[in-house]
Amino acid sequence: MPILDDELIELRRQIHRHPELAGEERQTAGLVAEQLRAAGLDVTTGVGGHGVLAVLDGSAGGPTLVYRADMDAVDTERAVLPFPRADRVFDDGFASRVPGAAHLCGHDLHTTIGVGIARTLAQTPVRGRVAFVFQPAEEPLQGARAMLDTGLVQRLAPRESYALHCAPFPAGTIAVSPGYGLPGLDHIRIVLPDDDAVAGVTGAAAALGTVEYPRSIDEYHTRFQSVMNASLQESVCVGQWTDRTADGRPVANVLLRVWPQERFPALREQVSLLAAEAGGHAEFPGDPFPAMVNAVDLSTAAGHHLSAALGPESVLWARASWPYNCEDFALFLHEAPGGQFYLGVADAATGMNGAPHTPDFAADERAIAHGVRAMTSLLTHRLTVRD
Ligand SMILES: [Zn+2]
Repeated sequence: MPILDDELIELRRQIHRHPELAGEERQTAGLVAEQLRAAGLDVTTGVGGHGVLAVLDGSAGGPTLVYRADMDAVDTERAVLPFPRADRVFDDGFASRVPGAAHLCGHDLHTTIGVGIARTLAQTPVRGRVAFVFQPAEEPLQGARAMLDTGLVQRLAPRESYALHCAPFPAGTIAVSPGYGLPGLDHIRIVLPDDDAVAGVTGAAAALGTVEYPRSIDEYHTRFQSVMNASLQESVCVGQWTDRTADGRPVANVLLRVWPQERFPALREQVSLLAAEAGGHAEFPGDPFPAMVNAVDLSTAAGHHLSAALGPESVLWARASWPYNCEDFALFLHEAPGGQFYLGVADAATGMNGAPHTPDFAADERAIAHGVRAMTSLLTHRLTVRD
């Protein structure tokens, strides 16, 4: 195994051992900054919180590409699917030492792979520039906005942006999904006259859903396979909880994950109608968070490139959106089109499920080297493509 691969596994384990929740990524950002400064990149820290922007400058005349990784861990009290737990432990020796936080979404791998790509590319002369973005606070969908609000990424005028996300496909594979991606998110507060109205509205809002959360790891896997075919062209996934207004009136909160995002206005209307029928009214605390939409042309081109570079058996083509998770890489894609690809991290032989936000999430570390090679190859190639 090349030295870099060993070092990256060590880095991943170090981050895995010390997971940091959204907004607290100080140590992780420090590790990233240290490695990338040592590799000769121009590193800016504290970008939109603990964000790190590391620019690899090649010779003039080429485009600027963004490669983005996220650094925050999962809040294990709140953001884990309630599956029955298996008793297998895969991170023996480097399990989380932080109560309430764990890398159950694979961001430790994402960060490590980002460092690996930067270090690899720094050793070869390139034309153009790659801006490596290490983002904080992806889980609450805040970090991308915070980093972009500094204007530092836009100042580089990126032409394309790319990212990876761990997924329950076999390690050694990457899935591209041209034109698809992940749903947008809307939060609606329904203020109601009394508790009886809450039950009625909650039931009616649940009925807007077209998909239900998987209840076991087997259902999760079956569901994930369905993104490989065109069975989920539209999806609405409904989450709900209740609270009260300051003056004590009951509130039904409805969270909608929606694909495609063009459905938001109609859904808002439907929910407003439900609220009115129950004698209440709907409030919208903010605009819906946009869906993550991978560019058709660039994702297709990436799939073909990866297929040629890694072998066609390494590339999967997803033809639908996964309905349960949102992703604020969506905002980087608004600045510069491109794609986020699914990096397979599962290993059936050992039982590593590779399923983000499940209590037994485990990733095959061989996927790190694979991700680094795949994306280094893709970025190197894209730098040679003229506008
Ligand atoms: Zn994630």
